[in-house]
Amino acid sequence: MSMMRQAYVERIGSLTFRELPVPRPGPGELLVRIHTTLTCGTDLKTFRRGHAVLAVPGPLGHEAAGVVEAVGDGVTDFSPGDAVMWAPTAPCRQCGACARGLYNHCDTLFRRIAMGAYADYILLPKHVVAQHVFHKPEHLPFEEAALMEPLACILRGWRRLGAFPDGHGGSKRAGDEARSDAPMNVDPAARRGGIDSVLIIGVGAIGLLHVAVARALGCPQITAVGGRESGLALARRLGAHHAVQGHVPAVADRLRSAGLAEADVVIECTGNPQVWAAAPALTRVGGKAMLFGGLTGGAEVAFSARRIHYDEVTLMGSFHYTPADVVEARRLLAEGEMKLGGLITGVRPLSELLEAFEDLERGEGVKFALRPEADET
Ligand SMILES: [Zn+2]
Ligand SMILES: [Zn+2]
Repeated sequence: MSMMRQAYVERIGSLTFRELPVPRPGPGELLVRIHTTLTCGTDLKTFRRGHAVLAVPGPLGHEAAGVVEAVGDGVTDFSPGDAVMWAPTAPCRQCGACARGLYNHCDTLFRRIAMGAYADYILLPKHVVAQHVFHKPEHLPFEEAALMEPLACILRGWRRLGAFPDGHGGSKRAGDEARSDAPMNVDPAARRGGIDSVLIIGVGAIGLLHVAVARALGCPQITAVGGRESGLALARRLGAHHAVQGHVPAVADRLRSAGLAEADVVIECTGNPQVWAAAPALTRVGGKAMLFGGLTGGAEVAFSARRIHYDEVTLMGSFHYTPADVVEARRLLAEGEMKLGGLITGVRPLSELLEAFEDLERGEGVKFALRPEADET
């Protein structure tokens, strides 16, 4: 019986590789040989501090792409040797949340998540295979294909803000893929929900993906704010018109005098309660503050009542993704509307996962691409 490695959090703070037999796919399932898995802040947090919905002890890694090794009975869309990309969760379409179209709040999402992509192989469950596994276009590098999951989360945020008004529903079986592949004949301003100016706070992976989406949607004024020069340089490369070094709220006056405050939309991507509280002060009257960077479960934040009441600033959150967001993320990646390669700081063998996390904790790098194959040379 052949064996495989899989990164496993035994308890908070303890990450090891365990050896397991390579699983066999059951009906509707796919066994995928991992080509590339990306580091993600969620994995790092789960390992160091635990996570509200992800299990510890448990396997880690969820942003990945690979090659089909074996298919279960009844799988007709994929064959061994196919390069594939996927999102690790998919809704049940039967619970109360799903009945309301709130697929990102499906009761079963995290009970049935396909974690464990820091590994040689991963078994993708039937409901994920049916909804969120796609053929990887040949021209798309594996590490960019692995960005589909975080990109889908970003698109969920933009959809909440009013962008992508044409994308509803969301099952690739029900024809969404075809609809999403249709030419974008909507007015570009409508496609971006009328958002002309956007201020993105934070230049880590999430902030940078927001910059890339704003650019793909043609926003005429994209401003990124952050502390790290390397992140700001990347923001410029990904399409930010302005990249301002500093921390919110200290930098707010500088943004105001440069004419970069009063944005239609402010997107908070730091997960810092002080930045959450300050974000509404940087939108225009009637604007929206999207609080994207998650805080710990018990956090409470106080906001300026004047901004919310008299100035009609809308506060919004965004969580995870729906099938429509996954389909749109796949389309944007496949069509090459965004050049996201710059987000990948470097390629490392899978066995260096812990070292990659340590680099990220020191503020070095955005995302690392881990490759099982690189260990075999
Ligand atoms: Zn992630
Ligand atoms: Zn459900």
